[in-house]
Amino acid sequence: MNNDTKQIIDTDNSNYLPVFSRYQIVLERGEGVYLFDSEGKKYLDFLAGIAVNVVGHGYKPLVEAITSQAQKLIHCSNLYYTRPQATAAEKLVKLSGLSRAFFANSGAEANEGAIKIARKYAHKFNPDKSEIISARGSFHGRTLATLTATGQPQYQSGVGPLPEGFSYVRYNDINDLASKINDQTAAVFLETIQGEGGVYPPKDGYLQKVRELCDAHNALLIFDEIQAGIGRSGKFFAYEKYGVKPDIVTLAKGLAGGVPIGAFITTEEVANAFAPGDHGTTFGGNPLACSAANVILDTVPKTEFLNHVEKVGEYFKNELYKLADKYPNVIEEVRGEGLILGAELKDGIDGRGIVNDVLAQGAIINCTVKKVLRFIPPLVIEEKHVDELMPMLNKALAKVAEG
Ligand SMILES: *Cc1c(COP(=O)(O)O)cnc(C)c1O
Repeated sequence: MNNDTKQIIDTDNSNYLPVFSRYQIVLERGEGVYLFDSEGKKYLDFLAGIAVNVVGHGYKPLVEAITSQAQKLIHCSNLYYTRPQATAAEKLVKLSGLSRAFFANSGAEANEGAIKIARKYAHKFNPDKSEIISARGSFHGRTLATLTATGQPQYQSGVGPLPEGFSYVRYNDINDLASKINDQTAAVFLETIQGEGGVYPPKDGYLQKVRELCDAHNALLIFDEIQAGIGRSGKFFAYEKYGVKPDIVTLAKGLAGGVPIGAFITTEEVANAFAPGDHGTTFGGNPLACSAANVILDTVPKTEFLNHVEKVGEYFKNELYKLADKYPNVIEEVRGEGLILGAELKDGIDGRGIVNDVLAQGAIINCTVKKVLRFIPPLVIEEKHVDELMPMLNKALAKVAEG
């Protein structure tokens, strides 16, 4: 590591809140599906800033839209109309088949809005109808309400008291939901495909049955598609894959290709639960962020783009199956849809070691819940990029297999 790199890391280490255990590189620029660090080393990017950079780095139409919008107007206030926001809302409504979109700045904030409006709507029927049921192993964000909805105790410890009215079911276990849902349930809140929890797609028919249970109890169905949406599954919304429509869907991560944004979209009926003044945001959906979102919303939903995701995803998954066959003592299972793929490691194998090995070889991958290698690359990767990653993964896994 050169002195300049060392100095950046030292400065950050002594000033930034130490909540991330970071890889010891400083990233400086990106080009397509590659990133470059402060020493000029090139990395193949199979993380995309955690499912964010859906069109890769330095995508011209995105850079141009942001640049031109920045020259006109970066921010005004939601007290006024702007063209980029009106356009982005219209696109989301058309794509989802729902009726109303609201923009926030992040995933957690989009989910906060969804929880709030679900409760406000439910309270019209019964003031005690406030329970939010989410799944164990889920991830919904880091604010107090969303970390409470997150069904993983490690995100909740030591920061109580937590907001009331949250309960949990096992994901993919319809009987568990059937035993817990009741007339005081305001909403069932699920990731369509679990991401942080280890890349778990829904089992056949599970989401249909969730929808039926929600309808039977007049509970709303909220899908958190912050990670699995925006084309990642091979459909623009992952729920389209399973033929189940939610009452509210939340988006963020890839929605503006890297510019911070979040959104929830809902039906006219649910939207009516909020009156002017009931919700708001200073930055959310500002013209800069929406100008970026409009580029993504003009690009990703195209049939050719989604077919590309499906096709490369299929190819990639097959390559992962081959690795799983080659290293049966290292890989337990390969899962996922489109370009949200996971390879679960056998108990006791250190995923972070594999990630570090691959990083040193020149590619960025991720490991979640300590034992699931997760691949959420830019959606524009091609088969040749998969072919570039595979030998690096192979080498890292071979070392682990040899012990
Ligand atoms: C990342 C993520 C969030 C939180 O988004 P932030 O922008 O970090 O607040 C919520 N839900 C899911 C499914 C996510 O993957």
